Amino acid sequence: MFLRPSGRPGTEWQAIGVVGAIVSIKREEIGRAFDNGDFRPHFQPLVNLRVGDLHGFELLARWKHPARGWIPPSEFIPLAEKDGWIDRLTKELLHLAFSSMAKLPDHLNLSVNISPVQLRGLGLPRDIQKIAEQSGFSLERLMVEITESALTEDLNSARMIAAALKAMGCKLGLDDFGTGYSSLTHLQSLPFDELKIDRSFVGSMAERRDSRKIVAAVVGLGQSLGLITAAEGVETLEQAQMLQWLGCELAQGWFYGKPMPAEDLPKTVSGFRAKGVAAMSTDVPGRLSSLDLLPSVRLAQLQAVYDGAPVGLAFIGRDLRYKMLNRRLAQMNGRPLEDHIGNTVAQTVPGLFPLVEGYLLRALDGEAIPGVEITTPVSDAGESRTILLSYEPARDEAGEVVGVSVAIVDLSPIRRAEEARRAAEGHFRQMMELLPQIPWIIDPEGRALDVSQRWLQISGQTGDQWTGFGWLDALHPDDLKPTWDAMNASFKSGNPIDTVFRVRGSPADPWRRLRSRGAANVGANGKIICWYGSLEEAE
Ligand code: C2E
Ligand code: CA
Ligand code: CA
Repeated sequence: MFLRPSGRPGTEWQAIGVVGAIVSIKREEIGRAFDNGDFRPHFQPLVNLRVGDLHGFELLARWKHPARGWIPPSEFIPLAEKDGWIDRLTKELLHLAFSSMAKLPDHLNLSVNISPVQLRGLGLPRDIQKIAEQSGFSLERLMVEITESALTEDLNSARMIAAALKAMGCKLGLDDFGTGYSSLTHLQSLPFDELKIDRSFVGSMAERRDSRKIVAAVVGLGQSLGLITAAEGVETLEQAQMLQWLGCELAQGWFYGKPMPAEDLPKTVSGFRAKGVAAMSTDVPGRLSSLDLLPSVRLAQLQAVYDGAPVGLAFIGRDLRYKMLNRRLAQMNGRPLEDHIGNTVAQTVPGLFPLVEGYLLRALDGEAIPGVEITTPVSDAGESRTILLSYEPARDEAGEVVGVSVAIVDLSPIRRAEEARRAAEGHFRQMMELLPQIPWIIDPEGRALDVSQRWLQISGQTGDQWTGFGWLDALHPDDLKPTWDAMNASFKSGNPIDTVFRVRGSPADPWRRLRSRGAANVGANGKIICWYGSLEEAE
């Protein structure tokens, strides 16, 4: 935007607005506007994105022209700056705005815009202090927004004023971030508390990937510098949700409310309803949990989880290169961490790649694939390794798959342990069959859990007839009660079982007397887990 004199110099200016509208404003009109109180503060709501409540308002100047109606600031602020009445205008607006804000609850803040030309002398901090005192408005509630152009003019004086404002308790915000030159240098030059992302990025972030990336980067930058990040020009729920997901703290825009006159403030404050957050919790349920923490904290936590995880973890990009992995995976792959990052999976684990490529591609297509078991040879001696992999597509703010998160568990130790256990069990069984005694296991109530196969020969039972209380059926009818009484006595007392009963292989066989002896296996809590015992020929 620029200004040029038109007609007779000094009497009339043409302001050429951003939208190209040419407006003629006469000097006398301005004096009249001040006299009639036609410059009015408007207030636009600022919302806390994380909880959806009202954070405060931004003061935006409006001129209520008797003939032309509401005139936007783009048409008269440049004129005020050029023509030297910007200080008067600011004071007028601050008076009205501070008094209105003083009537609202203390937790509501006010952001005000200050022109670059006002950062030249110490008049501004003094004026702000005086007006705040007169209106009973605490400067702890004030955020002074300046644009980068203010910093390109006279940095030393801007620093002095910034220091004075901070000393008074005000906060400092950098407005329209991303539109000026060398913003990063400016960020360091003054003690900023807030970064305001320009609405040109916010407005297009739902449609344009590059805008989205810029917004994400600015939010990340703000957070890493410990600054509050605010987004302006939020017009849709979609934009609000993206900003929320990115961890942006404050938002402002038509979606939440248009600039309004002071009279509307009390009603807006009392009737304010959280918008966006509530909608979001039902629309995108999975996403809300990631908002419980700010991204910077989230990142630190994730990094710790990553590093300490006993499973191998990796993030593979769309180009099938390792973007990130943890120590465990590097260990499993038998190569240092540095050998992975930036390299393709094919280069890093050539033996494994052909087996996993298909899964990686499917995951990049958006499919989550849990629990894939793969066995790979690890030595020529025929040794192999079994791994369990799961693939989870990772999506960006717009839902596009940007890579795959892979988790890998080495099952080999478990498999080896299982094999060893199976082998040991086999040995034990064989030994059991060789013993002269017939070993058995029963539960605390007397149900048979296991018995040597030789029981089948001597009892005449087949298959699993012996299981549960089935073994009692093989006993001589006269021995049933005495045996059961003796065993019950042991179940109650925990004393060893020692009883004799008769069984026979078939009705044609004679009855054989067997002595059954067993001891309780007692658990840590003192309760009997089961009984171990054996049968042998009674004398
Ligand atoms: P700004 O500080 O970037 O203010 C935000 C502008 O975006 C405001 O325009 C606001 O009405 C507009 N806006 C808010 N939400 C939306 C939205 O959802 N969509 C769109 N498209 N626009 C939205 P406004 O009020 O016309 O102000 C324009 C600029 O004038 C301000 O830009 C600020 O730089 C300047 N300004 C306003 N009031 C003052 C003032 O009192 N003093 C000074 N020095 N400058 C002021
Ligand atoms: Ca602003
Ligand atoms: Ca702005």
